[in-house]
Amino acid sequence: MKALVFNGPRDIRYEDYADPELRSANSAIVQVKSCSICGSDLHMYHGAHIGNTDYGAGGTKFCTGHEFIGEVVETGPDVHGFKVGDQVLAAGGTGCGQCPACLTGNANRCPAATAFGIGPSLEGGQAELVNIPNADATLFSTEGLTDDQAILLTDAMATAYFGLTRAEPKPGGSVAVVGLGPIGLIGVELALALGAAQVFAIDPVKSRRDMAEKLGATTFAPGPDLVPKIREATGGRGVQSVFEASGASGAIASVLPMVAQGGNASFIGIPEPDDTLPMPLIMFKNVTVRGGICDVPNMWRNLVPMIQSGRIKAPNLFSHDFKLSEGAEAYKLFDSRDEGVIKIRIAVD
Ligand SMILES: [Zn+2]
Ligand SMILES: [Zn+2]
Repeated sequence: MKALVFNGPRDIRYEDYADPELRSANSAIVQVKSCSICGSDLHMYHGAHIGNTDYGAGGTKFCTGHEFIGEVVETGPDVHGFKVGDQVLAAGGTGCGQCPACLTGNANRCPAATAFGIGPSLEGGQAELVNIPNADATLFSTEGLTDDQAILLTDAMATAYFGLTRAEPKPGGSVAVVGLGPIGLIGVELALALGAAQVFAIDPVKSRRDMAEKLGATTFAPGPDLVPKIREATGGRGVQSVFEASGASGAIASVLPMVAQGGNASFIGIPEPDDTLPMPLIMFKNVTVRGGICDVPNMWRNLVPMIQSGRIKAPNLFSHDFKLSEGAEAYKLFDSRDEGVIKIRIAVD
């Protein structure tokens, strides 16, 4: 098959790769129809870290990508919820499907849990074919969803819901979303849908702030006057719920100073190993801090009805289209963070 293959930092190539085989009885093979690039893929692309993995060294080849949709073309004997021909999306990561965590619907707590396409242990879906372990829990039917909605449910929309709700937004309350990539923009929309009265949206890129403003947020560029401005806009109190959706070190550092007394801060961006939070602000403002990797399938039951009822539209997020063979260019453009580049859709078939 053809696939986008990580060959080292800033070196994603469209090349021949061995077809995946069913790796376990509960696996399925999916023929990919469409996929996307995620902000977290850029950590790998930059040769930085995800957890303990250092991508700077290179030397390991694997298919990239954890946001993809397609058609089931083969199933193992222990797959019961899907059959050949089903149109599906896959959660961005999964577990073994056999341990207690997986069997109780918490694959993200599986000792073997990993995202697709961040290493050779679970090949990614920026490829013509991909093996899906734990298929019954990892796949979801795309019936009644548009392709764009389905791609967003693989990660971005689920992670936005996870991150935002862990900042405990209250009806009539105040929310700040720091970082207006696709996840942050969906976070803005969700905050309003869940009843927030004030939503502040922060990003250095003007076109992204413009999109947040159209959704109904009050926007700010980061900088030394950000926290004073937010204090002013909240009557000096600060923001009750802050959702950090970028993982950029400067953005992470801005969160605790803007949280209100007794507020909540939620982090989902992948940090660099030496990123830290200020303990005195957490202690003396009684801030509840949460961070973590989204358990994608557990978000679908809340999100799918919101999408299908039109409460969440995620408008205009896909700004650019590429073919799989143009993957190297797609990564380059996405990495540029140029004005107007939000999310990239890659056609595989
Ligand atoms: Zn992603
Ligand atoms: Zn497991």
